[in-house]
Amino acid sequence: MSKIYWDKGHGGDDPGAVANGLQEKNLTHKIVEYAMVYLEANYTGFEQRVTRTGDQTLTLSQRADMANAWGADVFVSVHINAGKGNGFESYVYNGGVSSQTIALQNVLHGEILATMKTFGSITDRGKKRANYAVLRETKMPAVLTENLFIDSSDAKLLKNEEFLKDVGEAHARGIAKFLGLPQKAKTAPSQPQQKSSDGKLYRVQVGAFSDRKNAEQLVEELKQNGYPATIV
Ligand SMILES: [Zn+2]
Repeated sequence: MSKIYWDKGHGGDDPGAVANGLQEKNLTHKIVEYAMVYLEANYTGFEQRVTRTGDQTLTLSQRADMANAWGADVFVSVHINAGKGNGFESYVYNGGVSSQTIALQNVLHGEILATMKTFGSITDRGKKRANYAVLRETKMPAVLTENLFIDSSDAKLLKNEEFLKDVGEAHARGIAKFLGLPQKAKTAPSQPQQKSSDGKLYRVQVGAFSDRKNAEQLVEELKQNGYPATIV
């Protein structure tokens, strides 16, 4: 059972960066909530906790201590950047880090950036290292993400709820990939009885079968069930 610790950047008395009618603490709350819901809905084999469920005030050391005390396997701290730049960047500690930490950064960075790019062009500010307390004081692989800038043209995306949701889900998928979490079995959809009248011809490729006989057999079965089929 893998243990995942989420950190919603800032909170309570500390709003984090504020601009364009947005507060960093509210955005990090939303992104992490979306991530946690997505993990719960799609994967098994894990437990997850979060540094703050609501708008509590926490020091950086408290955040790291809680993850350490629980024995988390992975720690992800979610933030929004400020300083009038553009784009996405991720951080690991700039001291000694394990290869696992680098692997976590690689998979998260790739997953989040690819997802953000479905909303338009996004600047990749790179995989970085810094002496951040939550990264320095946590004992497990830990990554901090800076998800666009609150005080630049990026704010337009940060006001888009669909964007926050997708970015949260990308965090979740990255962690799931890193930990190799099993996906939940999807409930089988009821089998719609498609009639051949839709005019669709089923093309059975011989190459997909070990020998032609198997392909011929499938074509026969399709025909018996009323589906036009042919070998290609
Ligand atoms: Zn922050």
